Amino acid sequence: MALIALEGIGKRYDLGEVAIDALRDVSLTIDEGEAVAIMGPSGSGKSTLLAILGCLDPPTIGSYRLGGDEVGKMSAAALAAIRCRRIGFVFQGFNLLPRLTAIENVELPLAYAGLPPRKRREKAAATLERLGLSERMNHLPNQLSGGQQQRVAIARSLVNDPDLILADEPTGALDTRTGNEILEVLEGINAGGTALVVVTHDVSVADRLRRRIALKDGRVGKDSDHPTAAEVI
Ligand code: ADP
Repeated sequence: MALIALEGIGKRYDLGEVAIDALRDVSLTIDEGEAVAIMGPSGSGKSTLLAILGCLDPPTIGSYRLGGDEVGKMSAAALAAIRCRRIGFVFQGFNLLPRLTAIENVELPLAYAGLPPRKRREKAAATLERLGLSERMNHLPNQLSGGQQQRVAIARSLVNDPDLILADEPTGALDTRTGNEILEVLEGINAGGTALVVVTHDVSVADRLRRRIALKDGRVGKDSDHPTAAEVI
């Protein structure tokens, strides 16, 4: 069953004199539990696509259905709820709040979701434990290694049991070995049924995901699930 269905998605940035079409006529579906890499050179529209998938930014044209619901028809409050409960975000730079401890960072989405403090703490602790951070819960981000910080960020993305994790160059700030560990963590989460979309420049990262979609000048250039006739031959 399709988790994500994009149809004729376009995104235009109007800059007065000129307009930039960051995405043009993007149509694709991503199933529940799929693992997909979004690749492409700088400026090809990867971040724009991720922002649309994450309900952070609306497309200029086209339809985006998430779990069957048309995102374009939702109120700002409904979109905020979706970003909090159904989608987890993981960034290159971790984006942890520096003055909050690991467990407090992980509790944030639970606070937005309205969970009482004791339940928040229990759930955040269990999620950090699952990610191998039970000894680090009360550390501040700057007392943790890059790999540990990214695990905290992944715990935060995971704590509301989302349907989808969107990761923007999740290994970009890490050395190869730590990056591989983080990919294994994301793969493990995906194996549990959470869909995973990873934006990456790194072919060795993309190669680990079952499906790869390459953007070129705002269009889908290649999709490993839907090769063109020329690629099959
Ligand atoms: P990528 O993530 O692949 O580098 P982006 O989605 O960031 O690509 O950008 C696609 C195109 O849209 C680029 O030409 C970029 O300059 C342009 N763009 C992105 N964001 C904005 C914005 N907020 N305003 C104007 N142009 C933008």
